[in-house]
Amino acid sequence: MTGAMMLAAVLAGPGDIQVRRVPVPSIGQKDALIRVACTGICGSDLSGFKYNAYNRPGDVMGHEFVGHVERVGASVEGIALGDRVTGYSAQFCGKCSWCVRKQWHLCPDLFSHYTGYGESGAFAEFTAIRGARLNRNVFLVPASLGDEAATLVEPVGVYARADAAFSVGEAESVLIVGGGVIGQIAAQALTRRERHTTVVLTEPSAERREVASRIPGIAAVLDPRQDTFPQQADAVIGRSRRHFGSTGMADMVLETSGSGAGLRQAIDLVRPGGTVVCIGVGGETADISTSELVHKELRIVGCMGTNFPAGLQALVEHTVDASALITHRFALSDIEGAFATLLRGEGVKAVISVT
Ligand SMILES: [Zn+2]
Ligand SMILES: [Zn+2]
Repeated sequence: MTGAMMLAAVLAGPGDIQVRRVPVPSIGQKDALIRVACTGICGSDLSGFKYNAYNRPGDVMGHEFVGHVERVGASVEGIALGDRVTGYSAQFCGKCSWCVRKQWHLCPDLFSHYTGYGESGAFAEFTAIRGARLNRNVFLVPASLGDEAATLVEPVGVYARADAAFSVGEAESVLIVGGGVIGQIAAQALTRRERHTTVVLTEPSAERREVASRIPGIAAVLDPRQDTFPQQADAVIGRSRRHFGSTGMADMVLETSGSGAGLRQAIDLVRPGGTVVCIGVGGETADISTSELVHKELRIVGCMGTNFPAGLQALVEHTVDASALITHRFALSDIEGAFATLLRGEGVKAVISVT
């Protein structure tokens, strides 16, 4: 396919994305070329678009894709032309402190050598998977899972990874700060477990609260901007005396909003000895006193990266209902409209139909 051209959304600068004709990515012996069907817009794509946070001008973003195998290199095994797949390219340095410990997601090369970050992304007709290996970075999508649902494998895997790392599902009460896609996924997964967990979600957007309030078994969906929010939160997660003053009593808080106000809310409402797991990014800060940290014995931990097999399994087993999460659909030609919609805080998940 040397010399072939395709349509792709190219990041031209902060807030500027343009659909252009660009060369189809070339593939080597170990690579696979995927004809993209559709691609979800991730929160990190929004930061990439608005501030070029993770991206540089010229990048083709998009990493939450599903598509069909168009070509494979001579040494790729187990992947056939036409297979419907999701996956990623990731070329880590293999030498840094974190690669040596197999903590690949902490490799300094991650954001220059991953699908949609340095490597060809999937807001395009084709994307390449470098070093394609079945069940390692290429995953067959079963027929029972539709294309749009399959774009959620990566974000569902983000929650699955946090759950596995911090035993979120073992907590008696979980406060989810933020009703974006990760917050909604967490709320769905936690309320569908056999083990009972009191799940409370807070979100300023009425539209996102409405989506969360339809989750069976969710204890409360609250607007943190309401004057009565503190009383409403106390009514579901409890409040107790602590060494000095009082505290919310959530066992665990998942901070998915990436906002400073969200992190502050998490610190206020987690119980002494509890854990705040930060998953959302946004570059904002929150004030915290050293006394508060010590006297509440807080654990505030960051969590990034995903687990594709776990994400795929959760969707196939209906632990997560994709149809409730995808609120907007756009054609590749209208990707600018898609970004504008999400940046206005509308919807939960938008999917770009490519072919
Ligand atoms: Zn993502
Ligand atoms: Zn490395």
